[in-house]
Amino acid sequence: MTAKLIKGTEIREEILSEIEKEVKEIKEKHGKVPGLVTILVGENPASISYVTLKIKTADRLGFHEIQDNQPADVAEADLLALIDKYNKDEAINGILVQLPLPKHIDEKKILNAIDPDKDVDGFHPVNVGRLMIGGDEVKFAPCTPAGIQEMIIRAGVETSGAEVVVVGRSNIVGKPIANMMVQKGPGANSTVTIVHTRTKDLAAHCKRADILIVAAGVPGLVKPEWIKPGSCVIDVGVNRVGEKKSEKTGKMIPLLKGDVDFDAAKEIAGSITPVPGGVGPMTITMLMRNTLKSLKYKLGIQ
Ligand code: NAP
Repeated sequence: MTAKLIKGTEIREEILSEIEKEVKEIKEKHGKVPGLVTILVGENPASISYVTLKIKTADRLGFHEIQDNQPADVAEADLLALIDKYNKDEAINGILVQLPLPKHIDEKKILNAIDPDKDVDGFHPVNVGRLMIGGDEVKFAPCTPAGIQEMIIRAGVETSGAEVVVVGRSNIVGKPIANMMVQKGPGANSTVTIVHTRTKDLAAHCKRADILIVAAGVPGLVKPEWIKPGSCVIDVGVNRVGEKKSEKTGKMIPLLKGDVDFDAAKEIAGSITPVPGGVGPMTITMLMRNTLKSLKYKLGIQ
C-alpha cells in the first residue's frame, strides 16, 4: 500500500486563500486589517529567514506589518519597553518575538510581557491555560500544534475515539498537541498517550497508534515496523542531515529528514506527511490565522 500524502504546501495555500478573502471582507466592512509586528533581536541567519518568510506571508495577505529589528546587545529593559509599546498600539493585533533570544535576555520574562490578547504564538501562560481548559476558552492555539490538527482534519482522518500517540513532550509541540487531541470537539475526542525518552517500550506504544504524531528531533527514530497499517503518521521532525543541490537554483541547500523513515513508512501508513513540505509550512500559516483571529476578537466578530 502507498499512503496518501498529506501535503502542508497544498493545505497552506487553501488556508491562506481563506484568510485573504476574510481580510478583504473585514477591510470593506470595518475598515481594519490584521496588524502583526515581528521583533527580531540580532542577526541569527535562521531567525532572519523565518522572520522574512513571516513578513512576506503577512504582506501577501494584506496585513499591516511592522518588522522591528533590534541589535543583539539590546537591553532587556528596552525590549520590555518595546513590547509595552506594541501592547498599547491599537493597530497591532499580534506580537511575535522571534526565538531564540540572546543569553543576556530572560526569554520567559519577555514572552510573559506580551498582552495575552496579542500573543498569537500562544506561548503566554494565560493562553496555555486556556488551551488546557479547551472549548470556547481557547483564544490562540500554538501554531505548530494548530497546524498539525488542521492537517489531520483536512485530510479527513477520524479523530474521535482514535488512539493518538505523541512522541515528544515539549511545550511547543508535544504537550500542546496531546492536550488539543484529547479535548471534546471536532478534530479531537481522541485517546492520547505521550511518550518520551523515559518511556519503557516506545515501539509498543507507537504500534497501536491510529494517529502517530512524532516530534522528537531524531532522524529516522520511528521504524517502519512501529507503524500500524493504515494509520495516519504526522512527522514534525526537521533534521538537517547534510546538504544537497537545489533543483531550482543549483545552490547547496540543507538536506532535511524527518523523525520517521519516510520511504518505508509510506508503504504501511494510510496517510503520511512528508519532510520537508509537511508540517513545516503550516506553522506560519497558523500564525497568520491567529493574527486574523485576534482582530476578529477585537471587533467582536468571532
Ligand atoms: P524538543 O524540545 O527537543 O523535544 C523533543 C522531545 O522528544 C522531548 O520530549 C524528548 O524527550 C523526546 N525525544 C527525543 N528523543 C527521543 C527518543 N529517542 N525517544 C523518545 N522520545 C524522544 O523538540 P521540539 O521543539 O518539540 O521539536 C521536535 C522536532 O520538531 C524537531 O526536529 C524540530 O525541529 C521540529 N519542529 C518542527 C516545527 C515545524 O515544522 N514547524 C516546529 C517545531 C518543531 P525528553 O523530554 O524525555 O527529553
